[in-house]
Amino acid sequence: MGLQRFMYGRNGVDQLAVLVLIASVLVLFVASALKVSWLQVVYYAGVFYALYRTLSRDLVKRRKENHLLLQKVKSVTSWFGIQKRIVQERKTHRHFKCPSCKQRLRVPVGKGKITITCSKCGEKFSRKS
Ligand SMILES: [Zn+2]
Repeated sequence: MGLQRFMYGRNGVDQLAVLVLIASVLVLFVASALKVSWLQVVYYAGVFYALYRTLSRDLVKRRKENHLLLQKVKSVTSWFGIQKRIVQERKTHRHFKCPSCKQRLRVPVGKGKITITCSKCGEKFSRKS
């Protein structure tokens, strides 16, 4: 009950804090494995930052930072998803980027030189499929 009251209006543990903590612990492992004692400073800084986030009352700023992290993670995972799909479909489809709006476009393979019309902006460009 006391803790609940203490944490009221504070950011609490978010994904960014967890990530920083995990990274800090990894740094600590590396520091002790390589016997590089100054690296421990990075560990303490990380723990301190995670604690600072958790106890912070500036919720708007902290949520913004956490949201930025989630967006980064999402864009990285979706990039990997696209790369996986390109590899999986390499025999049947080719992927192109629209030269004007960067939209990804997928065309069947083996049709020779074709004109591709972008589904997003209507730009026409030709590529060998
Ligand atoms: Zn386009």
